[in-house]
Amino acid sequence: MKNLYEVKVAKFGGSSLADAAQMKKCADIIKAEPSRRFVVPSAPGKRFREDVKVTDLLINCFALSAAGGDWLPVFEEVEARYNGMISGLGLELDLSSEFATIKQKLAEGAPRDYVASRGEYLNGRILAAYIGYEFIDAADVIFFDNEGRFDATKTNNFLSDLLAGKENAVIPGFYGSTPDGGIKTFSRGGSDITGAIVARAVMADMYENWTDVSGFMMCDPRIVENPRPIKIVTYRELRELSYMGATVLHEESIFPVKVAGIPINIRNTNRPSDIGTLIVNSTEGFRTDEIITGIAGKKGFSVIRIEKDMMNSETGVAMRVLKVFADIGLSFEHLPSGIDTMCVVINSADIKGREREILGAISKAISPDNLELEGSLALIAVVGRGMAGMPGTASRVFTALAREGINVSMIDQGSSELNIIIGVHEDSFETAIRCIYSEFNHE
Ligand code: ASP
Repeated sequence: MKNLYEVKVAKFGGSSLADAAQMKKCADIIKAEPSRRFVVPSAPGKRFREDVKVTDLLINCFALSAAGGDWLPVFEEVEARYNGMISGLGLELDLSSEFATIKQKLAEGAPRDYVASRGEYLNGRILAAYIGYEFIDAADVIFFDNEGRFDATKTNNFLSDLLAGKENAVIPGFYGSTPDGGIKTFSRGGSDITGAIVARAVMADMYENWTDVSGFMMCDPRIVENPRPIKIVTYRELRELSYMGATVLHEESIFPVKVAGIPINIRNTNRPSDIGTLIVNSTEGFRTDEIITGIAGKKGFSVIRIEKDMMNSETGVAMRVLKVFADIGLSFEHLPSGIDTMCVVINSADIKGREREILGAISKAISPDNLELEGSLALIAVVGRGMAGMPGTASRVFTALAREGINVSMIDQGSSELNIIIGVHEDSFETAIRCIYSEFNHE
């Protein structure tokens, strides 16, 4: 049977590659579909809760070496983990000369990024040997500029030409090189980004991101027991949800595939038959009837309420308020406004100890009739492309909250009709999420 997806890029996270048994599962997944031609591995992650990720062990080696301490015992742990994988997989591979090179460089004071990147490099070597794919060092294909910024154009041009001639390859995640030949890593969790870059370079039909959960849940399972999985979500919805704290993917990994219109499929290495979550530009052609896609939220916000009679007809009031924030270098989160009122929602941590200064500056800028600051606010985003043009959704959300006696202190609906943002007191946060969830999910 011809496979529907000709080229898939499969990125495997650290827990998927934590030991030989996990690596075998990844290999089975890769072999199950010939379209999985390009594979991007992370470094071995935790095997159990108290375990330490190889990347953290390596960063620790670097820190010890930089402080003149004894890094060798920690590095030996790293060696033991890889050697355990090699023997567990029954491979002939011998990485001792690689270990010797890294130790030599550590002794010479190698930079942090070089040391941290070795986790992916060594794991890539093992995975490539195990599945019989070509190994391509990310240092040769992922480029950063002299300032350490990722060079997307150079990388994409080079990588797409190179991979066009390859049947398959393993390209380690997380790092690349600078023009002087040094190694540079992305921020933590950055193998997701490499996977997206590779997917774009080969114009993959699908970017699969294999991890230890079966995709996104409709809300945080620590708040709602067994929430419904999200089968399909658009990039825009995901942006809203992850802004509010829902994380599975590295934020920056969205961009390369989004511009290329490549869908992402979050999958679970431990439950490969679960379909996971599909992230797409548009849901056209998919059957979806959910009104709400997800509910996410965060605590730790404050709101400054500003009232000024005739604010509506006076020009420049909002601009002067916002200039106060720009002048002190503070970004705001939301800006709901009424006829004579305006609210500025900010992160409480950002204004801590500066409350008087900020209120004073606003008073001076616009002489408001009333100005107050309320802390302990939690924001909840109810996100769903299905809300657009669906009358009664907001009313269901607010009726559900009212039934529980929860006071809503702020409402902001984006013009896209993609989300409703609700401010409640931090103490009501969990109850609010639960009651909105059950409003849209009772059988
Ligand atoms: N190994 C790196 C980290 O732990 C990168 C990754 O896993 O994506 O952050």
